[in-house]
Amino acid sequence: MIDLADALALVERTAAPLPPRRLQLAAAVGRLLSAGIIADGDSPPWDRAMMDGFAVRDADMAGGGIVELEVVTDLAAGDVTSLTLRPGSCARIMTGAPIPPGADAIVPVERAVDGTAGTHAGGRVRLHEKTFRPGQHVGRQGAAYRQGQEVLAAGMWLGAAEIALAAEAGATHVVADAPVRVAILQSGSELVPHDTMPAFGQTRNSNGPMLAAAVTLLGGEPIPLGVAADRPEAIRAAVAKGLAADVLLLSGGVSAGDLDLVPGILAACGVDEVFHKVRLKPGKPVWFGRLARPAGEAPTLVFGLPGNPVSSLVCFELFVRPALAILSGRPRQAWHLPRTTAVLTAPVKAAPDRPVYLPGRLRPMTAGAAGADSSRIDSRGAARLEIEPLPWTGSSDLRGMAGASGLIALPAAAGLVAAGTGVDVLVRDSGTSGGRE
Ligand code: AMP
Ligand code: MG
Repeated sequence: MIDLADALALVERTAAPLPPRRLQLAAAVGRLLSAGIIADGDSPPWDRAMMDGFAVRDADMAGGGIVELEVVTDLAAGDVTSLTLRPGSCARIMTGAPIPPGADAIVPVERAVDGTAGTHAGGRVRLHEKTFRPGQHVGRQGAAYRQGQEVLAAGMWLGAAEIALAAEAGATHVVADAPVRVAILQSGSELVPHDTMPAFGQTRNSNGPMLAAAVTLLGGEPIPLGVAADRPEAIRAAVAKGLAADVLLLSGGVSAGDLDLVPGILAACGVDEVFHKVRLKPGKPVWFGRLARPAGEAPTLVFGLPGNPVSSLVCFELFVRPALAILSGRPRQAWHLPRTTAVLTAPVKAAPDRPVYLPGRLRPMTAGAAGADSSRIDSRGAARLEIEPLPWTGSSDLRGMAGASGLIALPAAAGLVAAGTGVDVLVRDSGTSGGRE
């Protein structure tokens, strides 16, 4: 059993940023590019019609006034022709088609006069383009970029436009800061999927959805492995799968009961224990280790979280959160839940041997609250916060935790902490603190 501060330091020392990974283009949205993308062709790839109308020769249009031309072919987007325009001829053309050899410019269909706008191959069109510019409405080959040019640079964020550009430039895969892959496994013979009605003695697997949600909120990729019964071979098979991920989160089976098989199985799978049991309430049984991998590959980090949902969540927030943040390369100030101080509105019970985390609801301090009125404003002139401890029956009580906007962090101490006392509070994730900085 070790102290919380030592355990946190061990997690921080064991986790290291993951190298970038090659991702399918569609999976890379929202990621940061780690290697530039080189175009495999020009854009536009050929001289392209940018309007629906008629592909013409500049020379035929030079005189101004109404020009009558023979329409020799029809070109929809996707059509190509080897026919070369001779003087006095033009091609009916749609936006996106390559302009035919000999053509220099497009005259939009709206410039056709005398009801000739519908003219196709074999007919004659009369065009009146009052302000003709040589080369008008043609997207020139390579005007946007050239083959071999870098179109997206390392460090760029891949939004919708960047994904489209990569697709246009021929990138099927990109190298980017991949999301951390987190395998999630529950152990417990009493557990049933959350979408079923438990029989007497059975418990819905709430940790599975909870841990997947927590991973998603931090930008990771949850890989749910479901539930393994409390049988060594069942747990071992699922653990073997989970060890292929960057992180394996287990819940249940890490305390001291007869069927708490997880630590032994992890050891048998070659996972080195970093710590087991932390002076902490709730969450004492937590287990942490790492599986070394062949040189050059990042180790798999393994967390054995307690089965009780609230203990599991507290351990996730304290230990797993910084590990995921470090693996995904976040700066130090984004590793942990933000901390604040607040004044207790009601007494709470500390533990003499270990720090305690309790759910509470944060709010600006109200008039008439504990403490003198002047204490409602802190030294920087900001309104101080108060925190109301929520009714909570213990580490299986998700109801109290679900309404909490903060976790009251009490250092080890004997007895009650009185109302009006200033306490440390971890501010629960509202979906913004864990996201991209
Ligand atoms: P354990 O850590 O396996 O001893 O489990 C402690 C308590 O947490 C027991 O009451 C379990 O039924 C409960 N528990 C374990 N795993 C889960 C889970 N995935 N979802 C909900 N409750 C669980
Ligand atoms: Mg169990």
